[in-house]
Amino acid sequence: MSVRDMVEKDYYAALGVPKDASAADIKKAYRRLALELHPDKNPGDPKAEARFKEVSEAYDVLSDESRRREYDEARALFAAGGVPGGQAGGYGFQPGGFGPGGPGYHGGSTAFNLDDLLGGAGAGTAPGGLGGLFDNLFQRSPGGRGPRRGADITAEVTISFEKALSGLEATVRLPGAATCLTCGGNGARPGTTPRTCTTCRGLGVVSRSQGGFALSEPCRDCLGKGTVIDSPCPDCRGSGRREREQRIRIPPGVADGQRLRVRGRGSPGERGGQAGDLEVTVHVLAHPVFDREGQNLTIVLPVTFVEAALGASVKVPTIDGAPLTVKIPPGTSSGRRLRVRSRGVPRSGGGHGDLIVTVDVTVPKPTDLSAKARTALQEFAHAHPEDPRTTLMEQMEGRS
Ligand SMILES: [Zn+2]
Ligand SMILES: [Zn+2]
Repeated sequence: MSVRDMVEKDYYAALGVPKDASAADIKKAYRRLALELHPDKNPGDPKAEARFKEVSEAYDVLSDESRRREYDEARALFAAGGVPGGQAGGYGFQPGGFGPGGPGYHGGSTAFNLDDLLGGAGAGTAPGGLGGLFDNLFQRSPGGRGPRRGADITAEVTISFEKALSGLEATVRLPGAATCLTCGGNGARPGTTPRTCTTCRGLGVVSRSQGGFALSEPCRDCLGKGTVIDSPCPDCRGSGRREREQRIRIPPGVADGQRLRVRGRGSPGERGGQAGDLEVTVHVLAHPVFDREGQNLTIVLPVTFVEAALGASVKVPTIDGAPLTVKIPPGTSSGRRLRVRSRGVPRSGGGHGDLIVTVDVTVPKPTDLSAKARTALQEFAHAHPEDPRTTLMEQMEGRS
């Protein structure tokens, strides 16, 4: 946190509370604002996100008694005219320079340490020296450091083959549950509070005497929690925890196993730090007819051996509409790949990959052959006495 931030950031104004607000008021104000501004409730709203960070940062400081005291004192110090702004060496941090109207740190009653102040802003120091000084001040309070980037979150989503081609808005379940913002995690409907269990008087256990012994067992009325929720929070049904979800946009053409990184949609940063990223691994379900090779869509197309020998125009299904007609050239072997341009997977840079049609010459089962067809095949064999293995034999003879 820079000196400038320190002077300019009004955490009380950020939370909309007076300077003498009680800890309870600060908490209440934060909870209300956090609920209103939470990124889950304002997806894609940078203003709300910025405000949410501002409010979180303000609450971080003001909710911590010692940090709040340091912040108050630092601001009082500036307000008292200690620092006119960025001239090097002109900070006015001299012993006794704060006068009777100052925050009184001479008395030693505050967290300030004169040596720290002078050490940081020593002779001819650059303006940055003071920034470091205040960073140090904040570092001295437990848990208080500079801005910290939020953690990255990993998640997975499974989508259909077709949606992977067209792209979609998907809801991604994030691992682990988060505190319910509606009730602040206590599980009670807003405006109500969990009450102490009357059966066990909040102990969670009840004693029962049996045969002269006192036995303790978990209270059945509160299930050992010690509190009872009469009116559960509608959003978490009393659990105080909620599954987290994020809506993300999955671009057209995403591949199975691909990882999408969504900047700033991970865990929120702390003390003004930027949020982490959300990394989503996409699983694409298999399709019964189509498959993919990178940006190409593939299909295996059965043809008869007559179509393969004589050539034919045959219909091929498409993933997104009416079938298209593909020409099988005369003399096509099984396994031949025919290419239909631009009917494949959308490319990230625009355009599409190709549709690759692999010809699969089918052979009729003997049980499917009529007597007439069988005779026709025999006639064909007589008319075309070809031995396709001749070349193989010749190649082998040449080697011996
Ligand atoms: Zn709740
Ligand atoms: Zn109880």
